[in-house]
Amino acid sequence: MGEPRYLTGDKPAIEEFLAKFDTFLFDCDGVLWSGDHIFPGTAETLEMLRSKGKQLVFVTNNSTKSRADYKKKFDKLGVPVTVDEVFGSAYSAAVYIARILKLPAPKNKVFVLGESGIEEELRAENVPFIGGTDPSLRRDIEPEDFTKIADGSALDPDVSIVLAGLDFHVNYLKLAHAFAYMKRGATFLATNTDSTLPMAHTLFPGAGSIGAPLVTASGKAPLALGKPSQAMMDAVEGKFQFDRSRTCMIGDRLNTDIRFGIEGQLGGTLAVLSGVNKKEDFLGEGDGTGVKPAFYADKLGDLLG
Ligand code: PLP
Ligand code: CA
Repeated sequence: MGEPRYLTGDKPAIEEFLAKFDTFLFDCDGVLWSGDHIFPGTAETLEMLRSKGKQLVFVTNNSTKSRADYKKKFDKLGVPVTVDEVFGSAYSAAVYIARILKLPAPKNKVFVLGESGIEEELRAENVPFIGGTDPSLRRDIEPEDFTKIADGSALDPDVSIVLAGLDFHVNYLKLAHAFAYMKRGATFLATNTDSTLPMAHTLFPGAGSIGAPLVTASGKAPLALGKPSQAMMDAVEGKFQFDRSRTCMIGDRLNTDIRFGIEGQLGGTLAVLSGVNKKEDFLGEGDGTGVKPAFYADKLGDLLG
């Protein structure tokens, strides 16, 4: 693959870039905003794209929030979107379980390692679940827990899926339950496997770090429903129907967003330098992974020319 084309400040290159695509898939954190700080030009750029008739989809790996939570965040930051334009990894997992696995309820419950965003999306798809924010699991493990997990009396016989997302209250008791369900044959899914979580201008352990103890214990990797998994691309495409050759993924992270676009054989990928990766990661030798965007810009707002 050739070297990425730099768009910042190059009006003809920007015009050419915009003309190539009908649909733009946006990563959120690191592209539109960082935490609660919206980047200058975000709202104007999205408005410019809409005025040109482009289809916009917001594809985030953040599993702690439901699509409705995300809509509230967009509203608060002054960016008009509809709930339907948002596609999060919690929603992706819920849709996969409800519409692809199609396991009959009320049997086939999901054991959740994660926050309320996952629970809301599962509820919306009528998928029964346990775990998640259940306060009875937010405690230290006691000696009798080992016995009750081992003899099955602490386990729900209807659990057939373990779903791992970012859980800010992860603990040994929850991991012990999850692993016990996996040993009984539960399917191992993850909303996403991001190694890190960008927060407060540095990195913290991401959703992948929450599921990692289960990977070590079981020797199995989960099927991930977030970027770069093509299960998410298929789900996004199933909902929005776009021509992949005229679609561009815009992201800040090479190993999730840009890989997602390249492996999905989209017409293009644009890396912005307002988030996790820097240009040294993909120019020349880069980070050694060979993942290179087709285009890059300092920030999204540079598309305004
Ligand atoms: N997961 C969590 C819990 C997050 O808070 C974030 C960013 O806010 C992400 C993942 C990454 O989200 P995105 O895919 O929008 O960059
Ligand atoms: Ca991001």
